[in-house]
This record gives sequence, C-alpha cells and structure tokens, in this order.
Amino acid sequence: MEFDLIARHFTRATPGAVLGVGDDCALLAPTPGMQLAVSSDMLLEGRHFSPRDSPAGIGHKSLAVNLSDLAAMGATPRWATLSIALPEADDAWLTAFARGFFRMADLHGIELVGGDTTRGSLTISITAMGEVPPGQALRRDGAQAGDDIWVSGTIGSAALALAYRQGRLFMEQVDAARVLPALYLPTPRVELGIALRGIASSAIDISDGLLGDLGHVLQRSQVGAAIEFAALPMLPAVRAYLHETVARDCVLAGGDDYELCFTAPAHRRDAVLSAAETAGVAVTRIGRITAEPGLALLDAAGQPLPIEHTGYDHFAA
Ligand code: ADP
Ligand code: MG
Repeated sequence: MEFDLIARHFTRATPGAVLGVGDDCALLAPTPGMQLAVSSDMLLEGRHFSPRDSPAGIGHKSLAVNLSDLAAMGATPRWATLSIALPEADDAWLTAFARGFFRMADLHGIELVGGDTTRGSLTISITAMGEVPPGQALRRDGAQAGDDIWVSGTIGSAALALAYRQGRLFMEQVDAARVLPALYLPTPRVELGIALRGIASSAIDISDGLLGDLGHVLQRSQVGAAIEFAALPMLPAVRAYLHETVARDCVLAGGDDYELCFTAPAHRRDAVLSAAETAGVAVTRIGRITAEPGLALLDAAGQPLPIEHTGYDHFAA
C-alpha cells in the first residue's frame, strides 16, 4: 500500500541523480568542485497551513519555502527529499499535492530523489539540496557598515492575507484577492539568488518577518541597520491599509514573504540592478548597514519610529 502510494505519486525519472526513489538511499553525484547547500523545513497542519487549504497549494508552498532557503544562499537547486505523514492514503489529495509539488520542482529544476511516508497527522518535511561555487554562497555574516540593504519584490502581502483570513483585519474583496496569492503561492527568488553571487555581501530570505530576519543578518555580521519605512516595497492593496496597526506589523514583522533581503556595497548598485533584471524581479533599496549595532526604523524625515514587534517566533509566549 505504502509502496504503491510512493510509486504512484512520488516516483519520477531523475536524470540529475545516479539513483532516485526506490532503494535504501538515493545516490547523488555533486558537480565536481561545487559545494552542497542543504536546508530542511517542516510544515505542520494547523500551524503552517489549514486543513481547508488546497492540496496543490500545499505541495507548491512546501517546496517553495525550501527553494527560498537555497535562493537565499545563492545555490542552484538540484535534489530534494520529501517526508510526509498523513492520516490516510487519500488518493485525490495526494494526486493534487504531487501536482503542486512537481510543478514547482520543474520550474526550478529540482528532482525528488527520496523521502519517507508514514501515517500520522499531516506533516510535511522537505530537505532541499543545491550547489554553489566555493566562496560564493550568500551568507548571513558578510554585511559591512555602509552597505545598502535591498529587498526583492514586495513585502507584507502574505501576512496581511493571513490577518484577513483570520478576521483580524477587514479588507475590501478586491484588495484581498490581490494579497491572497502571496500567502498560498509564494515565489522563491531562486534566479535572483544565483544572479547575486559575487555581488551581495549577505542575504537571507524573509520567512519570519523583515525586521526579525534582517536582525539575524545584523547579529551574524555584527553590524546595525537604518531602515526607511517609506521605502519599503509593498502592493497598493497593502499600502491602503497602513493606517491600521495590524497592517504595519504585517509589513515589518509579518513573515511568509519569501522575498530576499540582501546587502551589497553601494558601488555595486548597478550590478544589483542588472542581476535583478536578469532574474526578472524588482529590487528596492530600503536602508543602510551601520557600524553601530541596533536596528533603527526611520520615517521619511529621518526621525526614528518605534518598533513593536520584530518577527514570528514559534516559541514566543
Ligand atoms: P526504507 O524502509 O528503506 O526507509 P521506505 O519504504 O521508507 O524505505 O521508502 C522506499 C523508497 O521510497 C526509498 O527510496 C525512499 O527514499 C522513497 N520514498 C518514501 N517516501 C517517499 C516520498 N514521500 N517521496 C519520495 N520518495 C519517497
Ligand atoms: Mg523509510
């Protein structure tokens, strides 16, 4: 039964692997001279998605969040494993889940080479592996005082969509329709991460909120930052709600954006912009790295704004 299910839903040709699904281990041959970038993420029903969410969307998102980690490292996606616990062998659910998963996989050339399948409350754990040339990974510890801070795409949409879904914020239907795709169908910035090799001094993907995730970079790099609130890129459907505290929190600390936040020396601005053009995604300069530690949020006049929440913490009270 379990083997049937694996054969039917998760076994496909894997030309990029020596041996894929079906044996005790997959066999992988990394490109000679490249470093492996490896990342795992776990998604739980009730915490990361709701039982009512579409299975294809869950398949899309569970791989997308792992690809986002590879993107934040500047790695080229190669292989993934998928461990899944599910309450019953629901064929229709698995078919749709696999469709969403493999569509995302095919977009980024990542191959499913193994995993584990067991009965239990719905849990999805993926390990993604990618390759990066030695010394070119975009690490969190490379930001330097004076560097520009950049963000890809727009932020706040996914968190605002969640606030709307949970009834914490009223939104016009037309605005809600514009922000919901960010929550259910995030786009990992894989091409941008690769294009930023040798240009960005540090990078992180925004999964738990801009301020908190940028905070990790500051801590690892032992620097500070000044961010200008008015410079933050957001959809008009998000900007329209900024008079609400909930909406401001969503933009600054909401999470689930899966955009890249990265730093680069000011003399590399043109290189950053052409990398973004190659990758087909907009990037926005939102502030600057400072030698003094701490994170300052400034208004358009350069005056400090209070920071209330910095990000999502699974273990916070
Ligand atoms: P073992 O008992 O040796 O761990 P399993 O019965 O768990 O083997 O898995 C059989 C094969 O199917 C292995 O190659 C494993 O990697 C693969 N596999 C199991 N579950 C999944 C899954 N959800 N997605 C992809 N491959 C899977
Ligand atoms: Mg097993």
